Amino acid sequence: MLTMKAQCEHCSSSLPADLDGAFICSFECTFCANCAEDVLGYRCPNCGGVLVERPTRVGDALRRAPAGGAM
Ligand SMILES: [Zn+2]
Ligand SMILES: [Zn+2]
Repeated sequence: MLTMKAQCEHCSSSLPADLDGAFICSFECTFCANCAEDVLGYRCPNCGGVLVERPTRVGDALRRAPAGGAM
């Protein structure tokens, strides 16, 4: 079962599901944009896969599973 991770696996900075600029590999290892670009060079250190920008969770999905919203 795949869950959306809310943390960079490299620097542990917080990556809420509705935040732009998180990167994932095909195995859903999750990294912040800083690590993906500057540290990892868009290459996943866990599995060697390419890191791509994670689609943000918006609209219906976000209403059903808000990511730390204040409402
Ligand atoms: Zn990071
Ligand atoms: Zn990976």
